[in-house]
Amino acid sequence: MFPFDNSYARLPESFHASVYPEPVEGPVLIAFNAQLAQHLGLDLDASDAGRLAAIFSGNVLPPGAEPLAMAYAGHQFGNFVPRLGDGRAILLGEVVDAGGKRCDIQLKGAGPTPFSRRGDGRAALGPVLREYILSEAMAALGIPATRALAAVASGERVQRERMLPGAVFTRVAASHVRIGTFQFFAARSDTDALKTLVDYVIDRHYPDLKAEEKPALALLQRVAERQAELVARWLGIGFIHGVMNTDNMTLSGETIDFGPCAFLDEYEPMKVFSSIDQQGRYAYRNQPGIAQWNIARLAECLLPLIDADEEQAVTAANAVLQSFGAHFQAAWLGVFRGKLGLATQEDGDDELVQALLSAMQDGRADFTLTFRRLTDLAQADAAGGDARLQAEAVFLEGFMPWEKAEAWLATWRNRLSREPDAPASIALMRRANPAIIPRNHRVEELIAAALAGDLSPFHRMLAAVSDPYADHAEFDAYREAPKDEERVLRTFCGT
Ligand code: AMP
Ligand code: MG
Repeated sequence: MFPFDNSYARLPESFHASVYPEPVEGPVLIAFNAQLAQHLGLDLDASDAGRLAAIFSGNVLPPGAEPLAMAYAGHQFGNFVPRLGDGRAILLGEVVDAGGKRCDIQLKGAGPTPFSRRGDGRAALGPVLREYILSEAMAALGIPATRALAAVASGERVQRERMLPGAVFTRVAASHVRIGTFQFFAARSDTDALKTLVDYVIDRHYPDLKAEEKPALALLQRVAERQAELVARWLGIGFIHGVMNTDNMTLSGETIDFGPCAFLDEYEPMKVFSSIDQQGRYAYRNQPGIAQWNIARLAECLLPLIDADEEQAVTAANAVLQSFGAHFQAAWLGVFRGKLGLATQEDGDDELVQALLSAMQDGRADFTLTFRRLTDLAQADAAGGDARLQAEAVFLEGFMPWEKAEAWLATWRNRLSREPDAPASIALMRRANPAIIPRNHRVEELIAAALAGDLSPFHRMLAAVSDPYADHAEFDAYREAPKDEERVLRTFCGT
């Protein structure tokens, strides 16, 4: 039924612990991603909710599954923990999708594992719905991210600050190998395992690096580039991951672990939502610097494989780390050029973007609405007439005070007039500036409704975030910034 081919299970014993899901009492299907299942080649009857609930709660194992918990370590908020591992996640196995890409299918909340420490191995309904919405929104926004395959209510309660309904989430990832996986073996000075892991990751994610003279160094370089691009794209949609620990950073370059993550409403570069991030380590603007810090931790693990001569290895790794800044900067500018409709490059573009962001910060302008209104304005400018003035008024309405914004508009229009293809510029903006992001207050609202037994807000929001660049009148409410009383100030991991 699932065409499993489990490569991770074939790695040496130290990489994982074999573990079976612990059945739940009353599994009820909440959501199933039939389209993704089809893409993965899973032979499932989408109308058989009972069967799906049994499979995606872990109560029934699909034939060929080799359930396991992965071993990993990690820096959590800068502190090294040598043994973390999957404490509430169980990898069922891998399938190769319709595009030829190998994917992990993993249950989250399916029971304790040898890595659970004091945790119960379970997940609460709220965080499961949150991860479902957030990961599907990211995918629809075009940002590399793990995907949601299913959510099942467990019919059991889990003890958090209070008793909450439990659920199991099934996610799909290009792989779950993280920087922390390398740290696990580096902490044990297990160079053989590190070598095996490098080969595995190259084979699975970057086969073009196989022929490189120094594969470990080439891998480090590639991962650094992927992360620089990923974080640039996060910043482009106002995304704050919230827990960029080294165990939450994949080698594939996918966004993973949607714990306390949140999207900016008003633009505030030092914004932090997560209740556990008291120092602001993972603030919006700190994310590229933290990604680089995490890559440095990966580099440390790879040193013995980069060069037998330690000094040479350090020099080579440092060169990669130093290139991160320039790579990020180029990726970031590329993202924001697109948001402003600029397909060509001019010297002043960086300043143009910075000036807008600075006006937005002063005016407490909503990040998403500002760029979307700018898109509408570019379109109205092309059409001319009254529409143009109206669109300009709507854009400026978002700024208090708006003198700076007005001056900026003139500079931008001037710059845009030098673009060779106006319709292409507008199309570029439409693809770069979403109308709908999963706004925090809406996510909280759907979780509250679900806890009260009503899943319809979840399903409606899922539909809304699945086509974020289009204008659908029925989803207008999802575009709006929160009113003062709706504003979410803190987000929680909810583990
Ligand atoms: P995360 O917050 O998902 O990055 O998880 C950090 C670490 O805590 C990982 O090793 C998880 O497996 C573990 N963990 C989180 N929640 C639980 C839980 N409810 N039971 C067992 N382990 C958990
Ligand atoms: Mg994690």
